[in-house]
Amino acid sequence: MSRQDLPSVHLQKPLVDEWSAVTKSGRAPVPDRKRCGWAAANEVAKAYHDLEWGVPQHNDLVLFEFLVLEGAQAGLSWETILRKRGNYRSAFDNFDPCAIAAYDKHRISQLMHDEGIIRNRMKIEAAIRNARLFVQLQKEFGSFDRYVWRFVDGQPRINHWRMMRQVPARTLESDLLSQDLRKRGFAFVGSTICYAFMQAIGMVNDHLVTCFRYRDLAG
Ligand SMILES: [Zn+2]
Repeated sequence: MSRQDLPSVHLQKPLVDEWSAVTKSGRAPVPDRKRCGWAAANEVAKAYHDLEWGVPQHNDLVLFEFLVLEGAQAGLSWETILRKRGNYRSAFDNFDPCAIAAYDKHRISQLMHDEGIIRNRMKIEAAIRNARLFVQLQKEFGSFDRYVWRFVDGQPRINHWRMMRQVPARTLESDLLSQDLRKRGFAFVGSTICYAFMQAIGMVNDHLVTCFRYRDLAG
């Protein structure tokens, strides 16, 4: 599964905690519904697609989580990250950027020995660097939410794709977001990563028009 044919998928914190309950309750995945092709990859992706992907997200903690997981995914399958998400939450203080911003060399060394996460020094150091810059952005704009949603003027972009191959890997907006984040010093924020992030947090609705979630989210 490459990023080109698999829009990024993510999980939100509360749903990870409620995973078993959600599945047992029959709320997810929703059976026998027409959904985006990529969601058929596995049950985890399917449930995530049905409940979370593309839902407008405004919680800074969750936005930071997405940023970290996107960076961690670079070069790997999303499923790998998805299955490690709980480990990431444990290892990275529930994605609290203030806590992560204070990580020192000793903590980095601990993370490098944590088999539950992707033990890539560049990615781990990027998460810490990005946490510090994320906190700065929160101070500058009041919240990261306010900062990032400006790139779509505060409103989700509603697309009308009929086929997976029509879904872009990047757009002008993701180029601009990437450019701005890089200028501020963020790492692992290329335009493709930024676009996947934007899809995940609902800045853009890239569900196919044939997918049952398209209308749910198009309002
Ligand atoms: Zn869909």
